[in-house]
Amino acid sequence: MITRRFLCGCLAGALPFAKTVVQAQSLECAVFTPDRQKATAPDEAITRLKVGNERFTAGKSINCDLMAQVRETANNQSPFAAIVGCIDSRVPPELVFDQRIGVNTDIIGSLEYSTKVASAKTIVILGHNFCGAIKSAVDDVKLGNITALLQNFQPALATLDNGDGHRDSHNDRLVQKVAEANARLTAASLTQRSPIIKELVDAKQLTIAAAMHDITTGKVTWLS
Ligand SMILES: [Zn+2]
Repeated sequence: MITRRFLCGCLAGALPFAKTVVQAQSLECAVFTPDRQKATAPDEAITRLKVGNERFTAGKSINCDLMAQVRETANNQSPFAAIVGCIDSRVPPELVFDQRIGVNTDIIGSLEYSTKVASAKTIVILGHNFCGAIKSAVDDVKLGNITALLQNFQPALATLDNGDGHRDSHNDRLVQKVAEANARLTAASLTQRSPIIKELVDAKQLTIAAAMHDITTGKVTWLS
């Protein structure tokens, strides 16, 4: 249920004679270069994602020439963020954060690649409400390979207590609590499971954040 995506964002610079709007758009559409990536602090990477989500929820996503970005990233990528999210069709991170080209798959190994090799500045664990996988885990569904997959949610399920009410996927508040706990615990586990990621975080070259995407509004809320 988890996909990973690198977000190859955009280069700020100066185009002295361009009109302001056109300038802003063309700069947002420029892919990250290694120099720009190097100059981007982890906090700035998070800010880019926040601002992008604000554009998305305001209906002001930027139209870029995606094929131009394909050409510009064909031989090189300099992503500023790696997003770990649900494969759910309602949560495509490039759209939610109003960012563009750059996709990859597989978990910790990919995150080590995206941060240590490709130098992404932040990892975002992005959960969402009304998640089918979380609901299935809450209901303890047994079905094919899904059974093993749902084992991954056991630590989040362990955060439930009597005050959360009946453990049932129709209990929206309980499902939300498990989803948020899963995002937080996954984010916290990365430095324990990967010495490479821990080293980057300790050196302040990388931040790890957990966030929740509301699929009814498109808004992303940051948990940490
Ligand atoms: Zn989901």
